[in-house]
Parts: sequence; structure tokens; C-alpha cells
Amino acid sequence: MSSPALRAPSARSGFDALSVYDDAAQRCAIDLSDNTNLWGMPPSALRALHDFKYDKVTRYPSAYTSELKESLARYTGAEPSMIVTGCGSDDVLDSAIRAFGNPGGALACCDPTFSMIPVLARLNGLTVTLSSFSPDGGLPVESLLASNAEIIYICSPNNPTGRSASREEIETIARSFDGLVIVDHAYAEYAEDSLMYLTGTFRNVLVTRTFSKAFGMAGLRVGYAVGNTSLIAEVEKSRGPYKVGALGSVAAIAALENDTSWIRDVVSETIVNRNKLIRRLESFGYSPLPSDANFVLVPVTDSASIVTRAASDNVGIRGFRNLSGIGDAVRITVGPWSMMEQILEIMGQK
Ligand SMILES: *Cc1c(COP(=O)(O)O)cnc(C)c1O
Repeated sequence: MSSPALRAPSARSGFDALSVYDDAAQRCAIDLSDNTNLWGMPPSALRALHDFKYDKVTRYPSAYTSELKESLARYTGAEPSMIVTGCGSDDVLDSAIRAFGNPGGALACCDPTFSMIPVLARLNGLTVTLSSFSPDGGLPVESLLASNAEIIYICSPNNPTGRSASREEIETIARSFDGLVIVDHAYAEYAEDSLMYLTGTFRNVLVTRTFSKAFGMAGLRVGYAVGNTSLIAEVEKSRGPYKVGALGSVAAIAALENDTSWIRDVVSETIVNRNKLIRRLESFGYSPLPSDANFVLVPVTDSASIVTRAASDNVGIRGFRNLSGIGDAVRITVGPWSMMEQILEIMGQK
């Protein structure tokens, strides 16, 4: 028998069912797999990175990003005490689930939704109850409320379907539920309706947002959430200090202070290209889902073969197998039209 010290310890219960994230599509020259901003990053943020004095990195950054919160307060209209930041919004979501979900409790969400959510819930010892969307695509309000969960997660616009939830649906949930309601607004800049007002109305709603999508800084890992001050204080404890690096803070502040109109222009172009992409896909006989975000979900018969065909042309897209109520599908990030022509050529070879 080997000595005990040579045996690998077991990870926490439930960990054997989890795996690490697969980022294969990102290795393609054109990456339409992650819904990032394919026009690049705001010019002022890029300048701020160039001008950064690197000898500053011997010191820790601000523990809770007080300066970034000031800029975010101006951008969102919320008080700085209503804002928590993190290492991407994944980190904020993780911290919120840890702060409000007791191990052994449940998190309720729609199916399909953001793939990280069941993972983050299980990592924090929660179980996940899934509710399918209504046949008309609406939120399954009754079923989410009946799930006896401690946390309800709503993604609007929803990844991967692209559809927004209505104000009425979310308000009904927030009003009837005692636990934490997370509204993931990662695609807020693209959406027709802003859900930020919910944080002023409901003490149990946390709206999460990110610099990874419209703001073009996925590599810098900066996300945030807005909510009632007492709710934010708990998420901040759970998050811990120093989650946003100095470079991420500097770039995010520069973009918020100087380039919101740059973002608006890119978003407008994205929406034009998205609608054109949907029409072209329809002309090929596909039935892409309507989208309120910078991506389009296209039901297909065999997602793996299309993903492989795209990858052989160095184009990364995200394939889904057998999504609830949809079946196989591919998700395409909307970018400059030259990139859309490449994926259309691949989608056209049926
Ligand atoms: C991309 C995405 C995120 C964000 O991630 P970051 O950790 O901020 O990069 C969060 N929620 C949804 C629904 C997303 O699609």
C-alpha cells in the first residue's frame, strides 16, 4: 500500500461532475464564438494601457476599485455604494451566489441559459433547477417561482437565445420572491430596454454587467453589479479585495470617461449587421432566433459538423447540442461585415 502522503486527496463532493471550460474556438483566427467586440477596444482605453506606468504594478491595486466605482456611478446613474466590481462578471456572479446561496440550497434558472451559471452554483454547493422557456419564448415565471430556490437567475438578453425578458415578467418575479434575483445584463448595451431601474425599485435585485462584451475588454477581466446598498455590501464581502487588476481599472475608467459615444456607434453598427445577418441566413433556409444582443442563435440539424467546417476555415463559432426546446444550434457573434461574409459562406455550404 502506498503511503497516505502519496495519495491524491479528493476534491469536494460534486467536483467529479464538473470539468474545465473548453476554449477551442478561441484559437481560430476569426473568433465568432464568445460574443466579444470584434471592432476592438475603445481608443481611449487602448491609450490608457499604452500610457500606464508599469513600475506601479509592484503595489496592490485599489482593494475595491473606489475610482472605477465613481466612473461606473456616473455611467449607470447609481450611487458608488450600490456598485460592486470583480474579475469579470463571472466573478461577481460567483460572489453573489456564494453570499446568498446556502450550500444545499437551490438556484433556479431558465434552460437554456448562460452555461457558467450551473457550474458556479454547483461550485458553491447549490443544486440547480432548470425551467424551460414558455412556448412563445417568455420567462417561465410560475415555474421559476415554484422551484423553492434561494436564488433566481435571469439572463436578459439571454445567452444563447438572444431574447430579452419583459419588465413585467422580471417585476413579477422580484415582487413575489424573498431570495436574491440576479439579472444578468451582460448585453445591456445592445438591448432595447435597460433593466438598471430595477435596482432602485427592488431591494432583492442584483443587475450584473461586464466590460467583456460591448466594451471590448474581455482579456482584462472587469465586471460589475448594481443593486441595493445592503445587498452590495454582502457581495463585496464574498468577493474579497483586489479582484480587479490595475490595468483593467485604468482601461475601464478611460472608456467610461471618454468613449461612451464610441461604444454607441459600434453598437449601432452591430445591430445593423445583426439584422442583415439574420435576413441572409433566412434566405439560406435557416430560422435564426430574433436577437436583442450581439449574437445570433441558429437552429441546425448537426451543430458539430458546422463548427468543424468553420474551424477548418479558421472561423470559431459556438455549437450547442440538443438545447431545450430548440435542438442543435450554432451561435454566431456579430462583427464587421467582412467577417459576417466569411461565416455566411460557411453556413451557405449545406
Ligand atoms: C459573456 C457573459 C458574461 C461575462 O463574462 P465576464 O466574466 O464578465 O467576461 C456574463 N454573463 C453572460 C450571459 C455572458 O454571456
